[in-house]
Amino acid sequence: MQKLIDEIKKTSGDMARRGWAESNGGNISLRLNEERFQAFNGFPPKSGWMKLPMAMPEIAGERFLVTGTGRFLRNIEVAPEKNTGVIEIDQKGEACQLLWGYEPAGAPTSELPAHLLSHCRIKEKTNNQSFAFIHTHPNSVIALTYAVANLETKSLTRLLWQSHAECIVVFPQGVEFLPWMMAGSMDLGKATADAISRRNLAVWQFHGICGCGRNLDEAFGRIDVAEKAAEICLRVMAAGGAKQTLSDVQLRAIAANFKCSLDEAIFDC
Ligand SMILES: [Zn+2]
Repeated sequence: MQKLIDEIKKTSGDMARRGWAESNGGNISLRLNEERFQAFNGFPPKSGWMKLPMAMPEIAGERFLVTGTGRFLRNIEVAPEKNTGVIEIDQKGEACQLLWGYEPAGAPTSELPAHLLSHCRIKEKTNNQSFAFIHTHPNSVIALTYAVANLETKSLTRLLWQSHAECIVVFPQGVEFLPWMMAGSMDLGKATADAISRRNLAVWQFHGICGCGRNLDEAFGRIDVAEKAAEICLRVMAAGGAKQTLSDVQLRAIAANFKCSLDEAIFDC
């Protein structure tokens, strides 16, 4: 359990120090693997069963470490038991209960629909090999959704791929673009899960980004690379715009060199 706590302290601290998690912005969830799951066996429930907004049989019986609603990611390092909690999903995937955390009283992040619905898809698409999901507010990714007209998945992905030569290796399936939707809503949760079923990153217009990975490091790393590319892109725009850029031939060559399976449709835009 200490290793689990150390991991979320590291990731949340890194997010806060990068300026991705102002106030109560940003949230993290980690599905517990077998070993970590068992570490919470015998913990008496700290709450009754709370109904989930819709049935999620794909994650029935699973346990998750989730950051708390209204809590600040920057405070997890000093008080993990107050700012995070471990929830357990019932055997039908219809309700959850608290096993540990959110001291003295609290609840999971208001973005829980996006997290849990995405975990259903992540578990499925990776054959139960991926466990982490992060939502956060990196400045440059958000700024890009204001600065570029008519953004959609293909144009955003291509812009990021062209802005930093590592991007196509880190997210060869691209970044899904989601037009603005209300934070915490089921519509946003469903659209995010749908996006995450196809790609490992989803940008929320005017709001932030979501990323998944095998572990917190991988999810964080994908977001970090996208944010770096967005920052470079904005600097280039501020410097008068790109005078040259990575060509499609060069992008395909990078992907081939690293044996990445590309979403070829991105080149259609
Ligand atoms: Zn947010």
